[in-house]
Amino acid sequence: MADRMPALFVSHGAPSLVLEDCPAHHFLKGLGRTIPRPTAIVVMSAHYEADTPTVSGAAAPETTHDFRGFPVELYAMRYRAPGAPAVADRIADLLRAARFDAAVEPERGFDHGVWVPLTLIYPGADIPVVSLSIQPQETPRHHSAIGRALSPLRDEGILLIGSGSMTHNLERFFAGGYDLNSPAEPFAREFADWIADRIAEGRTDALIAAPDTWPGGRENHPTDDHILPFYFALGAGGEACGGRRLHRSTNYGVLAMDAFAFG
Ligand code: ZN
Repeated sequence: MADRMPALFVSHGAPSLVLEDCPAHHFLKGLGRTIPRPTAIVVMSAHYEADTPTVSGAAAPETTHDFRGFPVELYAMRYRAPGAPAVADRIADLLRAARFDAAVEPERGFDHGVWVPLTLIYPGADIPVVSLSIQPQETPRHHSAIGRALSPLRDEGILLIGSGSMTHNLERFFAGGYDLNSPAEPFAREFADWIADRIAEGRTDALIAAPDTWPGGRENHPTDDHILPFYFALGAGGEACGGRRLHRSTNYGVLAMDAFAFG
């Protein structure tokens, strides 16, 4: 029997997180040792956008460097984990059974929402990885339902991860003149702590409502893309919210790096 795996939400921050000496970097580096070793990993990435739920069916995914203006050593990094075409097909089947119009993309590589956290969590790159898209036009409830549909995979030793950012206002990020260790802006920290409090209370209803209804929701998420993977993890955790915060920190003043486990 495979171990029942949690579902995780992780904040991947800036791509340079993989190089930066900060609490979130060290948290992710230790995370793999705190959970059973998965048989495969599914990552819903904020940087994989598609009109319908889409999974990568690539057997040997390329590493893509989907960012500009970062340190040169980042562009030399490769995450060489194999893909898992059979898991990708199984995901598509589960989604179709739940009435999603799912698709498999044959040659999708690892964007940085996938490889930045996985390079820290599983540096050996020896566990097969499938990436899964968000649909930026769809609702939080929709992404939660995708997580719910895939939650049976947790009983097969498959680790489900939503990779986004607990707060993600890039306009403030670029305008603020922050450095890595700048003190957290209250609007970002209050938002992240509000989420953690609702999770501690088991208030899935308040969380599922949408960022528009959260205090500071739109200030921290002008668009939904980086919070949608949070809903995937929330839904993948199952009926009862049963979540817990694994990590709390803020990079560059406005990027809350909080991580959560569900189920
Ligand atoms: Zn991102």
